[in-house]
Amino acid sequence: MDLKRVLDFEKKNLQEAFNRVLESGRYILSQEVASFEQSLSAYLNIRHCIGVSSGSDALLLSFLALGIKPAEKVICPTFTFFATAGSIARIGARPVFADSCPGCFQLPPFEAQSRIDSETRGIVPVHLFGQCADMDGFKEIKEKNDIFIIEDSAQAFGASLGDKKAGVLGDVGCFSFFPTKNLAALGEAGLVVTASDEIAYKLKALRVHGSFRQKYIHELIGGNFRMDEVQAAFLHVRLNAVDKLIEQRIKNALLYEQAFLSSGIAILCPDPCLCQTKKYEGLSHWDKDNYYPIYLPRSVRGRHTFNQYVIRIKKERDKLRDYLKDRGIQTEIYYPMPLHLQPCFSSLGYQKGDFPIAEKLSQEVMALPIFPGLTEEEIERVVKVICQFFGHPYKSLP
Ligand SMILES: *Cc1c(COP(=O)(O)O)cnc(C)c1O
Repeated sequence: MDLKRVLDFEKKNLQEAFNRVLESGRYILSQEVASFEQSLSAYLNIRHCIGVSSGSDALLLSFLALGIKPAEKVICPTFTFFATAGSIARIGARPVFADSCPGCFQLPPFEAQSRIDSETRGIVPVHLFGQCADMDGFKEIKEKNDIFIIEDSAQAFGASLGDKKAGVLGDVGCFSFFPTKNLAALGEAGLVVTASDEIAYKLKALRVHGSFRQKYIHELIGGNFRMDEVQAAFLHVRLNAVDKLIEQRIKNALLYEQAFLSSGIAILCPDPCLCQTKKYEGLSHWDKDNYYPIYLPRSVRGRHTFNQYVIRIKKERDKLRDYLKDRGIQTEIYYPMPLHLQPCFSSLGYQKGDFPIAEKLSQEVMALPIFPGLTEEEIERVVKVICQFFGHPYKSLP
């Protein structure tokens, strides 16, 4: 992944944005942030957008603003980035883990539902890799239970379900603008969105140490979660082109798919998406050896933005990864250890085998380069080298 490969049309505008901030003399939480927040409200079609210091802080602030208290439970997937559960634990609440869907990598609503009890205050569906979780299912759960839905949309800026964008489908939506995300800062930044005036007020207060209406009068105990002006200005430039950037990711995913399928080394993931079922079933392929060493990701709902292109390698993944690395191809494992097995969560009492799907996925997944600016030749080369590793002939794209 080459973050320096800024697209031509961005470069001049980013430099202009930097100069504007430099000359303004205002460097945090001022007019650039306010104007970026306004544009975000229009893009996401949501009443309140609150720019913050990072995606992790967006999650932390959300739990604080919702009034989730120590020892209360929040359900989240075990197969996600650490911050999803880390931020629950940091406010003193208890992460309750759940397994994943083998067809789409997301948290299935029935899995979350089965873990709700009287101490549960919220569920965090994560739109993993840029595709939405089954939010209709979570909406139904919310209608029957007094709980919050907090969307971890860090990887899914611009993804959508029907005519709604990821992040506006729950009580609160959290985004990250980490440099590898769909909307990428040149540093750290994040965002919380909500339709509720009351939650928005708390978020804005908590962002500045709980002193909002009157300087140095602290209504709440917050922290410093402010966004930099320069990041807001950069992000505003990219927001204006974000659909172009996302289209590039989608195009790259399609090229991978064509190159893999035409070479005959891979199939679209044969494990079914179980998000709309009531339990795990029909996993007949699950433990069988497959003729195909590679499973490709599928889009099963809405606009998949392909923040990551995550394939599953059915054998010798780590060897393949080294082989690619030696040939100058960078890959990443999202995520090698599910959160229920992390040392810092050992006191929660989970064990190996508790979440068999997540545990298996963590051994099979491998993310290929997909960033905007990656060329068709590079994509073909990645597939070619993977074919080489498995001793499989590669057929060039027409
Ligand atoms: C990136 C990410 C975060 C955290 O965002 P930061 O801006 O890096 O703090 C949280 N959740 C998920 C799923 C992420 O991918």
